Amino acid sequence: MKNSRDQNLFIDRYAAELDWVNVLFLFGTPFLSIALLFTYLQLETFNPHFIWLFLSFYFVTGISITGGYHRLYSHRTYKASKPLELFYLLFGAAALQNSVLFWADDHRRHHLYVDTEKDPYNARRGLWFSHMAWILYKDSYKERDIATIPDLAKNPFVMWQHKYYWLLVVLMGFGLPTLVGYFMGSTLGGFIFGGILRIVVVHHLVFLINSLAHYWGSQTYSDDNTARDSSLIALLTYGEGYHNFHHAFEADYRNGVGWFNWDPTKWFILIMSKLGMATDLRRINESVILRARLAMEKKRLKAASPDFFATVAESLDRLQIRLIEIRQRINTLKVEYKNFKDNQLRIEIRNAKREFRLALAQWRSTIAMAY
Ligand SMILES: [Zn+2]
Ligand SMILES: [Zn+2]
Repeated sequence: MKNSRDQNLFIDRYAAELDWVNVLFLFGTPFLSIALLFTYLQLETFNPHFIWLFLSFYFVTGISITGGYHRLYSHRTYKASKPLELFYLLFGAAALQNSVLFWADDHRRHHLYVDTEKDPYNARRGLWFSHMAWILYKDSYKERDIATIPDLAKNPFVMWQHKYYWLLVVLMGFGLPTLVGYFMGSTLGGFIFGGILRIVVVHHLVFLINSLAHYWGSQTYSDDNTARDSSLIALLTYGEGYHNFHHAFEADYRNGVGWFNWDPTKWFILIMSKLGMATDLRRINESVILRARLAMEKKRLKAASPDFFATVAESLDRLQIRLIEIRQRINTLKVEYKNFKDNQLRIEIRNAKREFRLALAQWRSTIAMAY
């Protein structure tokens, strides 16, 4: 089974049959949205409350993809309560991006085989392919053997969503917003702003994570793959734009690892954990993240000016060791402080942080000399 599946995976996606349902839907919905929008504006007076309806559905369906389909089901970066799972599965279906079972299967293969022909949305095939073209064709293999998703196949909630996916699409993706629109005074307005127009917008914003986030931005932690970090893309994608970090540390529930990084998905998961709806939020140790970042900066410097690098390599190595040591010390002190709340420990943490900032400034000024 495994062999036949792998063999089938090698069939070129463009050689597979077109999936006409997807083709008509993905090309039809943007035009239909615009046509309906004009019809609505002709027939009715625009009710500004529909902007809120749009934003609410935009938020709940998008976060169900990024917080649910992606960070919970595909990567298991935390555990969710049953009501939260139900929320993700219902509104994830309303985003019309497949059942989570198949979405996560595709996505795990994307990470496992990133940038190769086994990657379903291989970014090396260009922006058009990774953004949308890959969805226009039927799968390269006929049947999924769910080898990458045995955990999900055992989850009755997930299997329930998979079984009733199209019913949930109709009810949650179109029915619910239309019903809300009815109570707001316009069924057409509800269908457009909470339904079809919102689906088009959320589709393309999520698609950006596979296309532009593998193309534009910086390779902060690794250049082993095409994934990039970009705060602009993060703004558009519920925080998923820190994609280089994500590919380097996919087990972390955060994508924007700094507190100042725009990552609404991370904040949503945090709020859920405060409400008792999410537990076991996984974070990669900060010294591990730091090590990757510093190693990448050294690598870039070496490529940009090898002669200069040779003169500063030793001092950079020393600084790197020191920075990682201080980072580890801060971590240990923080854990101790959590247990004892001792004032002396707080002072030690403050001092260690100051020492860290100084060493980092030294590191940066050494590197800056080369440019
Ligand atoms: Zn991922
Ligand atoms: Zn990716």
